[in-house]
Amino acid sequence: MSSHDEIIQVKNLVKKYGDFTAVKGIEFEVHKGEVFGLLGPNGAGKTTTLEMLVGLRKPDQGTARIGGFDIKSQLNKVKEVIGVQLQSTTLFELLTVEEILHLYASFYPKHVSIPDIIEDMLLTDKTKSRIKGLSGGQKQRLAIALALVHDPWVIFLDEPTTGLDPQARRTLWDIILLLKEKGKTIVLTTHYMDEAHVLCDRIAIMDQGQLIALDTPSQLVKTLQSNSAVEFRFENDSVDVDLTSIEGVKQIGNQNDVYVLYTDDLQITLTSLIEMASERQLKLKDLQTRTATLEDVFIHMTGRRLREG
Ligand code: ATP
Repeated sequence: MSSHDEIIQVKNLVKKYGDFTAVKGIEFEVHKGEVFGLLGPNGAGKTTTLEMLVGLRKPDQGTARIGGFDIKSQLNKVKEVIGVQLQSTTLFELLTVEEILHLYASFYPKHVSIPDIIEDMLLTDKTKSRIKGLSGGQKQRLAIALALVHDPWVIFLDEPTTGLDPQARRTLWDIILLLKEKGKTIVLTTHYMDEAHVLCDRIAIMDQGQLIALDTPSQLVKTLQSNSAVEFRFENDSVDVDLTSIEGVKQIGNQNDVYVLYTDDLQITLTSLIEMASERQLKLKDLQTRTATLEDVFIHMTGRRLREG
C-alpha cells in the first residue's frame, strides 16, 4: 500500500459494451476505513464499475489499485484482500448456514472464526438452518458473511438492501456500520439516498457513466446553497411562467411538469409562489415542502430524479 490512507485508487476506468460506453473514464480514491458510496440511477454504471474493480470485467482503458495491487496484473493478490457480495449471489439452497460458511472457508489458506462471523451477521439462531428457509434479509447477511470468511480489507456490496423490507434494511445498515467499526473499508452501490446519507462517509454520484460529484453527504447537500425545497405542479396544462421572479428562490429544478424551488426562506418563497399563482389564475397541485436532501443534489445536477415515481 502507498504511504497515504488510500486503499483504492481508480484512474480513468473505461468500459464499453459494443458501441455503448457504460463507464466513461472515472477516477476516484477510497480511504482506508471509510464507507464509500457509489450513488446513481439505474444504468449509471455502478455495477459495471464494481465488477471491473473486483476482476469480473476487464476495463477497456484505465487502471485501478486495491491495497497497492494492480487489478489487471495482480488480480490474484487483489482477490486475497477483497470480499465481494454482488446482486446475484446464488447460494446452495440445501446447505445450512454453517455448512456453506465452512465450505467457503475451505477455499482459503486461512479464515476467520465461523461462529464469530455468524454472530456478527446476527445469524446465530439460524446456524443449523437450511439456506432455502431464510428470509431475504437473512440471505443477504449470509452473502455478506461469505464475503468476509477470508478476512478481507475491503468489502464490495452491490445494492445490499434492494428488495428488503424497512426493518431488514436497518439491520443491514447496523451490520455495515459494525464492519466499519472493525476497521474494514466498504464500497457500496445504492440508489437509495437515505441509505447513502446514513451510511457513507463519502459519496460519488454517478450518472451516465461519469462521476458528477464526490464529497461527504453533508458537503454535497451544502452545494445546493439552500436548505429547503418547495415542490409542486400546476393543474393547468403547459404553463409558461417565470419562476425566477418568486422571492427567495436560489435554484430551480424541473422535470416533466414537476417544479422544485430551492430556498433558505420557506415562508417568503411560499407566500410569493401562492401570490404569483393567484395573480395569474394558476392552480397549484401536489404542493409540498421539505428539507433539501441528496436527491435534490442529484436533481439539481442532472435535472432528473434518482428514482422514478
Ligand atoms: P443498476 O442500478 O440498474 O444496477 P448500474 O448503475 O449498476 O445500474 P450498470 O449495470 O453498470 O448500471 O449498467 C450501465 C449501463 O451498461 C446500462 O445502460 C446497461 O444497460 C449497460 N450494460 C450493463 N451490462 C451490459 C452488458 N453485459 N451488455 C451490454 N450493456 C450492458
